[in-house]
Amino acid sequence: MDIIVQKYGGTSVGSAERIKAVAKRIVKDRKKFAGLVVVVSAMGKTTDELISLAGQVSENPSPREYDALISNGENISASLLAMAIHSLGENVISLTGAQAGIKTENIYSKAKITNVDTTRIDKELRDGKIVVVTGFQGINDYYDVTTIGRGGSDTSAVVLAAALNARECEIYTDVDGVYTTDPRDCSEARKLDEISYEEMLELASLGAKVLHPRSVECAKENKLTMHVRSSFKNDDGTRVKEINKMETKKAVTGIAKSDNEVMISILNVPDDPGIAGAVFEELAKENINIDMIVQSTERGGVNNITFTVNGEDRDKAEEVTRKAADKIGVEGVECKDSIAKVSIVGVGMISRPGIAARFFRVLGQNGINIKLITTSEIKISCAINKEEADIAVGILHKEFELETN
Ligand code: ADP
Ligand code: ASP
Ligand code: MG
Repeated sequence: MDIIVQKYGGTSVGSAERIKAVAKRIVKDRKKFAGLVVVVSAMGKTTDELISLAGQVSENPSPREYDALISNGENISASLLAMAIHSLGENVISLTGAQAGIKTENIYSKAKITNVDTTRIDKELRDGKIVVVTGFQGINDYYDVTTIGRGGSDTSAVVLAAALNARECEIYTDVDGVYTTDPRDCSEARKLDEISYEEMLELASLGAKVLHPRSVECAKENKLTMHVRSSFKNDDGTRVKEINKMETKKAVTGIAKSDNEVMISILNVPDDPGIAGAVFEELAKENINIDMIVQSTERGGVNNITFTVNGEDRDKAEEVTRKAADKIGVEGVECKDSIAKVSIVGVGMISRPGIAARFFRVLGQNGINIKLITTSEIKISCAINKEEADIAVGILHKEFELETN
């Protein structure tokens, strides 16, 4: 069956009016495909509101109840969208993650989808129905509802598209494609017609929240094209797909910013083998992702280990690090908030030397102090003060001439 999966984000279904508009769009598209599966996010800021409510009743909510609560936004939008489609005379059914057969790991808040049993969706499609599925949620081995990380509905959509062998996965959002950088922060940002999986994965992982990183990873694994486009317009957007590296004209394709980072330093750590492992093992046990890591050179038998974590994990990371540091017997742990990470990404960097030098020089010339640096084959990231992040993005956008094709 020729199937397409469409995903509509929070702003796209942000009000009753928007839901009706999306329903109209879906009914029109229905005629073009034999099977249409629609994944929805929660309306507008619903997930944020639910998270805030959890915080008002408990300082440390039970992870199970937390997921049971915050997954509700998607239940609301899926039923409302199905109602709106139905009232336009189409055959439609909404399914929760569990009903749609989306299985996840047995952890909460950041569970990975492990498997999709498409039996139910297949049946509904064969019966000629449009199938609306809640994004962001799945079910674990204990039949408990789990969530798959903020922004995760993109991943729900791609995973379903892969499992259903869909032709393409369309991601409808509030911008008309993937830009060279967040168009809300930089007026010079330029829309890209296409971008490679590798570059999009880096940009998404480094903070370009237009796509959930795992969705890009999953699309790449399954060679599935993602089409990022606006639910407010009919124009083509950006295709995320396999691209021949030889065609790359520029060193840098895009810039990402993540401005909710925390820098944690463990001071005067004994310069002995196994110490870093002991600390990071404890953090890993708590599912805390460590990002940039720097160890200073040894002086007087000790050194400092500094790393960054996402602001969401701040309190837990500080607690675990302090405990681990106590065990080792180190002098202290310091947390620095208001850190941003600014990154340039491009496969074109591989063949062009001197990109890092230009990156550091132009920030230096503008008085922006770099705290940490990490690099990979196709990206360079710097941690800087959060207040300087938008300026840094603008400067780098100009330096690497991203405003022109
Ligand atoms: P949705 O609710 O539809 O999932 P998101 O808010 O998660 O939408 O993602 C869309 C937002 O991503 C845009 O409004 C934009 O501000 C932001 N964004 C960040 N980086 C980029 C980029 N490089 N290109 C386009 N949008 C970006
Ligand atoms: N509603 C969830 C969130 O706000 C998932 C999503 O929008 O993709 O993070
Ligand atoms: Mg999103």
